[in-house]
Amino acid sequence: MDTDPAAGTIFDADLVRRYDRPGPRYTSYPTAVQFHPGFGAADFAAAARASNAAPAKPLSLYVHVPFCESPCFYCGCNKVITRDHGRARPYLEHLALEVARMGALFDRARPVDQLHFGGGTPTFLSDEELERLLALLGEHFSLRRDAGREYSIEIDPRTVTPERLGRLVALGLNRVSLGVQDFDPAVQAAVNRIQPVEDTLALIRRARELPIDSVSVDLIYGLPRQTRASFARTLATIVAARPDRIAAYSYAHLPHLFKPQRQIKVEDLVTPAEKLGLLGLTVETLTAAGYVYVGMDHFALPGDELVRAQADGTLQRNFQGYSTRAECDLVGLGVSSISKVGDCYAQNAKGLPEYYRRLAAGGLATERGVALVAEDRLRRDVIQGLMCATRLDFAAIEARHGIRFEEHFAAELERLVPLAADGLVAREGRGLKILPRGRLLMRNVAMVFDAHLPPAPAVPAAEAPRYSRAV
Ligand code: SF4
Repeated sequence: MDTDPAAGTIFDADLVRRYDRPGPRYTSYPTAVQFHPGFGAADFAAAARASNAAPAKPLSLYVHVPFCESPCFYCGCNKVITRDHGRARPYLEHLALEVARMGALFDRARPVDQLHFGGGTPTFLSDEELERLLALLGEHFSLRRDAGREYSIEIDPRTVTPERLGRLVALGLNRVSLGVQDFDPAVQAAVNRIQPVEDTLALIRRARELPIDSVSVDLIYGLPRQTRASFARTLATIVAARPDRIAAYSYAHLPHLFKPQRQIKVEDLVTPAEKLGLLGLTVETLTAAGYVYVGMDHFALPGDELVRAQADGTLQRNFQGYSTRAECDLVGLGVSSISKVGDCYAQNAKGLPEYYRRLAAGGLATERGVALVAEDRLRRDVIQGLMCATRLDFAAIEARHGIRFEEHFAAELERLVPLAADGLVAREGRGLKILPRGRLLMRNVAMVFDAHLPPAPAVPAAEAPRYSRAV
């Protein structure tokens, strides 16, 4: 048995094409589609208080800043486009109410091991606003200052200079994630995101000089006007800059769901065959350059914590992708944020008016959520095992959940037979393992264990618009 779950990822174009169907990305299980308004603020508050009982877990805070100055046409995020930086003020006032009320629910002895500012564009806020926000978080939660903390921020290189990066580090942030997508000028023009390559490279160089533990870069393949030749140049430039992590996401063109995508000219879109070629190019270029494919669009250098966590079985999926801190309760702050505390998920109101209204009324901003039942916990464990460790040990699952794996999942094991015949997955003693050919299709394997999806056969795209496709 190979001991390195991250070893080997094979890009098989025919297999990827055949298995390309819409499906969840399993940043949670059950997925957000299952969240419902019957789970509200009182349920979340009760779960939060209960989570303080020993052994209380450390906390991970996520803070959402929804504002962006201009729309990137490919974007499907929850954001507010405005050049008026004054709009940050009422947002921060309401966020302050939420931070105080959320902070009161959690025991102050619980350290904040992880903190992430996401968006939108967190660097839409000025340095002074970010400083006040961090001070506010420190008043209501136990922030860490030692080297063990993972405090990160998503950076739009169009809004951050190398000098500003130094100021962010001085505030206590020690990880950065840079939005790049593509360096090609024609692609940047087609998606309304003009971002000179030199600005991005200068930031990465500056990050290397600062006490920043991890630099991550986001790319997107399948963008309009992208070609293999142009994206190969982007990949070569990024690989030469050697960030610790690279996320290469698939562009999903869903203009009926995401209004900015209607600005993209149809004639600029790449064909499904070209997109598949871009995925193959990405996997081959990054793995040849020494990056390890962790899973679900994420690559990391071999010494990176994500790779080490995958090997020792402590990797987990969360709303930011992959994380090493499986033991934390996640507290989401800001419009549309999602918390994962104990055995429940809770999501804040998705629109600013409703987010403001709920907080002004004196409560939390929770709008919907879900409390897991025993079957959800079992299936979450199975799906996490497949998506993170890329293998399952039936005996370990049985010990944690009190079931007989082969009996409980007899139908699922039967449904895996064709996937095994295609070389995606194999039985390994009393366990399962994702094979190199299945690494790019691990969610297809995970979907077999998802009790909330309609059963196979595969759902045509038009019938399942709430999920992105595999490629
Ligand atoms: S991609 Fe990022 S910066 Fe661009 S509109 Fe979306 S959230 Fe804003």
